[in-house]
Amino acid sequence: MQQELTGLGQTGEEAAGIVELDQTSVGRLSRMDALQGQAMSQERGRRREIELRRIAAALRRIARGDFGFCTGCDEPIEHKRLDFDPAVAQCIACAEKAEQGRG
Ligand SMILES: [Zn+2]
Repeated sequence: MQQELTGLGQTGEEAAGIVELDQTSVGRLSRMDALQGQAMSQERGRRREIELRRIAAALRRIARGDFGFCTGCDEPIEHKRLDFDPAVAQCIACAEKAEQGRG
């Protein structure tokens, strides 16, 4: 599991060397495209950053020995949930509560 997460972290670091907008190639006609592309790459970068933070947090939990336990209620997180996303920090109940609180 730890190897898997470290692997994810490495993939993230590679992908984080992202995509700068090439200012010199932006002509008048492609300005809208460029702005759209910029917004999209900012969004991708933002998601990547969140993902990397989640993975770093999961690695810290592994180091502390409380990996696999919900950060909300300290109950074990469902195995299916961890299989699906090893960096997940909360059980379904707490994640749903957080979703509702946000919405
Ligand atoms: Zn919980």
